[in-house]
Amino acid sequence: MRSKSRREFLTAAVASAAALGVKPDLPSFSASSEGANALAINGGTPVRTTAFPDWPKITDDDEKSWNAVLRKKMWCRLGADPSYVSRFEETWKNMTGARYCVATANGTTALVTSLNALDVGPGDEVLVPPYTFVATINAVLLQHALPIYVDSDRETFQMDADKIEASITDRTRCILPVHLGGYPVDMDKVLAIAQKRDLRVLEDACQAHLAEWRGHKVGTLGDLGCFSFQASKNLNSGEGGAIVSNNEDLTQLCESFHNNGHLMSAVWYRYAINGCNHRMTEFQGALLLEQAKRLEAQSRTRTENAFYLTKLLRDIPGITPARTYEGCTRNAYHLYMFRYDESRFAGVPRSRFLEALEAEGIPCASGYTPLNKEPFMKATLGSRAFKRIYSEKELKEYEERNQCPENDRLCAEAVWFYQTMLLGTRQDMDQIAEAIRKIQRHAGELTRT
Ligand SMILES: *Cc1c(COP(=O)(O)O)cnc(C)c1O
Repeated sequence: MRSKSRREFLTAAVASAAALGVKPDLPSFSASSEGANALAINGGTPVRTTAFPDWPKITDDDEKSWNAVLRKKMWCRLGADPSYVSRFEETWKNMTGARYCVATANGTTALVTSLNALDVGPGDEVLVPPYTFVATINAVLLQHALPIYVDSDRETFQMDADKIEASITDRTRCILPVHLGGYPVDMDKVLAIAQKRDLRVLEDACQAHLAEWRGHKVGTLGDLGCFSFQASKNLNSGEGGAIVSNNEDLTQLCESFHNNGHLMSAVWYRYAINGCNHRMTEFQGALLLEQAKRLEAQSRTRTENAFYLTKLLRDIPGITPARTYEGCTRNAYHLYMFRYDESRFAGVPRSRFLEALEAEGIPCASGYTPLNKEPFMKATLGSRAFKRIYSEKELKEYEERNQCPENDRLCAEAVWFYQTMLLGTRQDMDQIAEAIRKIQRHAGELTRT
């Protein structure tokens, strides 16, 4: 979720808690035998009253670097030699172990550039998860290709790799797994199917900086891998993106496409292919070079806290933290995700549970809605261009093929915490668990209102 909507969410939660505080029937409740131990949403004392770590982190070096770009008066990578952007590409290559890297304006343009390099176009089908940020799907639709939704594995929140093969047709061109929340998809299965069926693999690693599958950084396992450095992400320059690859030809196509059809090294006004301008600015490149220095340490802190939190939450009936696949050797924890079972909380619906948790001082969210059912899908497929490319029969069949019952359930059960909450201390994790246990103990009071 974007930080903007998160902020709105927090503001709304604070506002609703404040509104509850002035409700006339509440003082009597607080004064009951429960006293200060009552749920915060019912006027009790919140488990936590301090803020979680803020984001992003900045130092004097960020400021110096930013000013250096400003004073140099070379704000675009073209003509700046060596550019900050090319130095960041070098850094990101080293940090991911990829042979090549092309920086882009953002993660969405990294995906669009990659799909162009992979020659995905009208009439093609791309296998995607329904549980992702909408940009994954938008990138496919912009190519006038069809996103074919592969149902989710509820235990891991990821595309269920066992359901990929059944979705392949003679129109399938590419598998687009998303390492959602920073938890790697089962890449053994994805890569085996891709090889067997001669399909391309584009990894959406926009939430998975430094995550690993069997010791290899995600994004480097498929043909191309995309990252986002948007403000909410674990590595951040406000907006930003990158494509990594071990394939020289595909990298050259990406480089050309993102630079209006020019290779960086080529003669200007000679165009190999059509393209667009998806270049990263020097400001973004300079900031990322500084921010990237802190990523490894921050990432280790997130992992330690997430492991500890999982140990605590596993013991709470009705709370099931997302599992990782056996081949995952490192989780990026862009999100901390778990499933909530209301039957273990006296039937308190998830929405009410989230409100109660917010009131206890723990920011949280319900996460994605089923993308395959979103109105924008129908609107896009019903557009003039899509109707010219796909027959009525094809579009009707498409609707029938895109049922994801497991994902529907997942979307109704999911709860998220954000990566910044994992940047604090063990005591922070203790308080998260305590807030959930407190709500469980008092769940009956939430159903009575
Ligand atoms: C953030 C994100 C994107 C898009 O990246 P932007 O930099 O915001 O354009 C794509 N896919 C996923 C899974 C994301 O989380």
